[in-house]
Amino acid sequence: MSNLEKIRARIPEGVDALLVTEIVNVGWLTGFSGSAGKAIVTRNDARFITDSRYTLQANEQVSSMPVFSFQSPVLDSDFVLENLKELGVKSLALDPTVITFDAWQEYEQKWSGIQIWPSKGAFAGLRMIKSADEIEKLESACNLADACFDHVLRLIQPGVAELDIAIEIEFFFKRQGAGIAFDPIVVSGERSARPHGVPSEKKLEIGDFVTMDFGASLNGYNSDITRTVVVGEASDRHREHYAAVLESQVAVLEQMKAGMTGAQVDAIARDILTKHELGKFFGHGLGHGLGRLVHDTGRLSPTSTDVIEVGQVWTIEPGAYVPGFGGVRIEDDVVVEENGVRRLTHSTKELLVLPNV
Ligand code: ZN
Ligand code: ZN
Repeated sequence: MSNLEKIRARIPEGVDALLVTEIVNVGWLTGFSGSAGKAIVTRNDARFITDSRYTLQANEQVSSMPVFSFQSPVLDSDFVLENLKELGVKSLALDPTVITFDAWQEYEQKWSGIQIWPSKGAFAGLRMIKSADEIEKLESACNLADACFDHVLRLIQPGVAELDIAIEIEFFFKRQGAGIAFDPIVVSGERSARPHGVPSEKKLEIGDFVTMDFGASLNGYNSDITRTVVVGEASDRHREHYAAVLESQVAVLEQMKAGMTGAQVDAIARDILTKHELGKFFGHGLGHGLGRLVHDTGRLSPTSTDVIEVGQVWTIEPGAYVPGFGGVRIEDDVVVEENGVRRLTHSTKELLVLPNV
């Protein structure tokens, strides 16, 4: 089923059309990578609407429906109305979770001949199951993240600042023609106990854990990987702490399968960390859906009722963060297949002690 057919199946009964306004959904539906566009989807027709800044780009990228564009002084809402009329739309569903109250009021006022229906959740979950083409794009983004990890390892040595590593990660992705999926996290020593710490001027020292969490954004899809390494010399405590987190991560990769709930998957890792007395230092969820957004629909957490299905892509990222000592997180991206999950990120998870002399 194409994405257009999937959206079409979500047009509520008794309603003529859906208006797709949220740009992430628009990109998923049409392949358009610009920042302004909408799609009108009726039961047997569809139109892509954009403004003159994107006419050429849309004609190039959007193949599943004809492109209609407007330019100043025409207003977006007037142009959409004109198209709705041409398509014979008398009732229209909109997703109230993504439209501002202001826009809703404007539509109600201007489109007096058209009934507007809130259609909450019309898109919820739709993006979770990936097509073969989407998985290929995610794989490319993951390959680039692996290459980046390989590239920055040479920087890990005493005296290099967290910020030096973070900027090198950004530079690497941009120089490869990709973007960053999010601002890279690079934290070292005691600072590695901050799961989402911001890179600082702190310089790496012997005996530091260094946690690096980053991803590439490529062709509309994101990767998200985390590795923790040690500078100079690893103590027994470093090794035991790392081994516990790795054991919990590998157990999930081996046991996760379609049909489980997000809470069940999360429990695999949490139970192992608890067994190692690190459960209380694992404060966040195990993972999240990954796709056009880095934190896309779906959560693996103690309270998640999301059901794992074939074709979904998830991050698996247990961590344990001990204040005053440091933290370890190990994150891979996986796609759910018939017999379990397949890793899309392949960087080594052996504990690296760097520099390698
Ligand atoms: Zn991450
Ligand atoms: Zn993540």
